[in-house]
Amino acid sequence: MINGNGLVQSFEQGHAGMKMELGGKGANLAEMTRAGLPVPPGFTITTQACRDYYASGEQLPAGLMDEVNVALRELEKKQNKQFGDAACPLLVSVRSGSVSSMPGMMDTILNVGLNDVTVHGVAEATQNPRFAYDCYRRLIQMFGNVVFGIEPIRFEKLLHEMKTSCGVEHDRDVSAEGWKQLVDRYKELIASKSGKPFPQSADEQLQLAVEAVFRSWNNSRARVYRKVNRIPDEQGTAVNIQAMVFGNKGDDCGTGVVFTRDPSTGEKQLYGEYLTNAQGEDVVAGVRTPLPIAELERDMPDVFASLKHTAERLERHYRDMQDIEFTVEHGTLYLLQTRTGKRSAQAAMKIGVDLVDEGILTKEEAIARIEIGHLDQLLHPAIPADAVLDVLAVGLPASPGAATGEAVFDADTAEEKAKAGRRVILIRSETTPEDIHGVLAAEGVLTSRGGMTSHAAVVARGMGKPCVCGCEEVRIDADTRELRAGETIIREGDSISIDGSTGRVIRGEVPLRAGEMSAELSRLLEWADGIRTLRVAANADNPADAAKAREFGAEGIGLCRTEHMFLAPERLPAVREMILAETKEEREAALVKLLPMQQEDFEGMFRVMDGLPVTIRLLDPPLHEFLPNADELRARAAELAADIRSGGDSSGELRSQAAELETMLRKVRSLHEANPMLGQRGCRLGVLFPEIYDMQTEAVFRAAAVCIREGVHVWPEVMVPLVGHVNELRFLRGRIEHTAENVLGELLSRCPYKVGTMIEVPRAALTAAQIAECADFFSFGTNDLTQMTYGCSRDDAEGKFLTHYVDHKLLPANPFQTLDRDGVGQLIEWALEQGKAVRGDLKTGVCGEHGGDPESIFFCHQAGLDYVSCSPYRIPLARIAAAQARL
Ligand code: PEP
Ligand code: MG
Repeated sequence: MINGNGLVQSFEQGHAGMKMELGGKGANLAEMTRAGLPVPPGFTITTQACRDYYASGEQLPAGLMDEVNVALRELEKKQNKQFGDAACPLLVSVRSGSVSSMPGMMDTILNVGLNDVTVHGVAEATQNPRFAYDCYRRLIQMFGNVVFGIEPIRFEKLLHEMKTSCGVEHDRDVSAEGWKQLVDRYKELIASKSGKPFPQSADEQLQLAVEAVFRSWNNSRARVYRKVNRIPDEQGTAVNIQAMVFGNKGDDCGTGVVFTRDPSTGEKQLYGEYLTNAQGEDVVAGVRTPLPIAELERDMPDVFASLKHTAERLERHYRDMQDIEFTVEHGTLYLLQTRTGKRSAQAAMKIGVDLVDEGILTKEEAIARIEIGHLDQLLHPAIPADAVLDVLAVGLPASPGAATGEAVFDADTAEEKAKAGRRVILIRSETTPEDIHGVLAAEGVLTSRGGMTSHAAVVARGMGKPCVCGCEEVRIDADTRELRAGETIIREGDSISIDGSTGRVIRGEVPLRAGEMSAELSRLLEWADGIRTLRVAANADNPADAAKAREFGAEGIGLCRTEHMFLAPERLPAVREMILAETKEEREAALVKLLPMQQEDFEGMFRVMDGLPVTIRLLDPPLHEFLPNADELRARAAELAADIRSGGDSSGELRSQAAELETMLRKVRSLHEANPMLGQRGCRLGVLFPEIYDMQTEAVFRAAAVCIREGVHVWPEVMVPLVGHVNELRFLRGRIEHTAENVLGELLSRCPYKVGTMIEVPRAALTAAQIAECADFFSFGTNDLTQMTYGCSRDDAEGKFLTHYVDHKLLPANPFQTLDRDGVGQLIEWALEQGKAVRGDLKTGVCGEHGGDPESIFFCHQAGLDYVSCSPYRIPLARIAAAQARL
């Protein structure tokens, strides 16, 4: 039965499939209720109510509180208690619960319904005034923060003062009288800060709490979290109102969080933490360091057994690792939440593979579930085993991977320094969701308090950042901005490193080594290869990168940018000689020096890629990029002139240097262009100076000949950049074929080479039918194609205006990162259709940065391209994304 307008639904009415309406928490509470699990009863205000709230300018929808009251009366009947009743009051929790999990980003208020009168009732009914007043002060504290926006530190300060005046150190030692005093102080604080008293009406408390939870959907940390995790702002949050159960009623009570498998390693064992005699947020907030779940077996064996049994049931039911919040009230277990557990990349791979081996998931399901971001994380840097380290302390290994950087002690500084291009490690006693922008900016996070389920840990794991938490051996002082570990002091700006896989905190910088392929990831990749049809090649310009790419599963080289081969310091003089040449003969003389160097590189690439295609792109960038900067040249020329004037050139050496400089400067001036990216580059160079491309082609085929003689299977693909008109390609193709025939001679039949082009000028895409006449393959250079389609400089636009566009939602994403389907995508689809109509066997792919971006890979698959090409470290990601695109 749905009440009124259907904005409120009891747990019995929902199920797990109603996440969009009830939020993740509400849907799962409903599902668990239906499955007969011990869930305290309650109801959910739907996400629609939150959307209505915002649509009407932050006004509760008409009739919402009437619906809430109807549901509340039913809850009262179930609990045999009344909300606001003096003798035996019903107390409720009011919790946020969005569609997509946003751990800790929004607000929760517990113990709603307590006031100066009902608190007596609770004290009487439980015969435990200490408990009653502890609950009351918690309510006022949460309410003060969430509803009235008073900073938590003000409450913490009063708590600390009360404990000092009562002479106690720990919360557990505070008497009823102590809590009572604190209640009065808290009420004074609220009255003085907000100008209003703490509301005594239970109904008013409930309404204010609901509104505050709606508002928390739009707090800054929630907004940042949504942006990072691409959660739509329009979704809104549900609100769950649930009868309270208490983990803080005594030593046979407690509260905890448990994962059905280890979220760091994926091991199949209960993993989590709990606190006895504690309430609600104490565990996740990281305020007290909790005990490992294994100790619950010793403290409360029956509860542990039933928790274990329930955890197994939930995991089978949801067919995934679960993160469960529970409370124990006088020895009885209650479940407050279950959700798919966040996990490290390593754990995700292991859990995926294990669930397939256990027959719970199919291979396809395991692949479909892979979070692409995890793959980046897996291949993250680690500290080499043999590194000599100055280990200061060891904390909890909360999120794997190692990081090194400058110590910073607050989130704002972390953000500021990171913006200035510095690598930082964020160090906090504990992080709160308010620190999210700092966590985002930092290379890694270190905390001295809080467990594996604290916010720092959960958020860092989700973001794939290394994190060490609960490192109690170190003392962190945010005021003096220093960390002390024994005798050692690390101050802001000092270098520090952390290893989130082992928990080590290390003084100074450490060398990091690149991530490795785990056995589980290898299996998943194999399964992915069996599913995908899109091939994955690598962008690599030297044999070492090519070897790495092959190790990661590259099926060839999709883009070898030969200009990178020109930039090595020992090669630059010959390259400059070629550019400075005044005549064809001079240029050829310089090219003769470059030829063997290029040939050697190509031989290396062919050997590594034995049996696989290697696409070699002829020179692309404007030539001035290989020459020194004009300002530097001018400054040097002025210095030389001054030295000559002061008579310091007896040998004439300076004069000859000055003459050389002058020649260089003249060339630099003559090559200057207002828009070099639209200027004399790409195939235009090849047309104007055919001998450059001739040399490169000769090097390709000489290398091929050498390798063929060694027994290597070579598949060279010569690629012409920046073609805009078919005539450019026709002219260059003729020369390439001529060179190939000359160089290969009788080996021609053993060298199945191709000649193709990049499609990166919109005109090329539009005239693809003509271009396909001369091309064996099209490789879409989506970096330039995006630049020219949007008319946005790929080098400047991001810093100047694109980020603003994306932040203000003028664009859905940065088009240089995620392919713009509507514009660039349309050009690709058109070119593909036109090209294939002319040449059915035309090979097609993408080699711009988009080739390593999951969403763009989905597009490439859907568009029917044959392959994507990306940097070696993105190959595993691309293999998985290509498989997911098929599922
Ligand atoms: C491209 O433009 O997409 C491309 C791959 O070429 P480059 O990035 O070298 O211009
Ligand atoms: Mg390009």
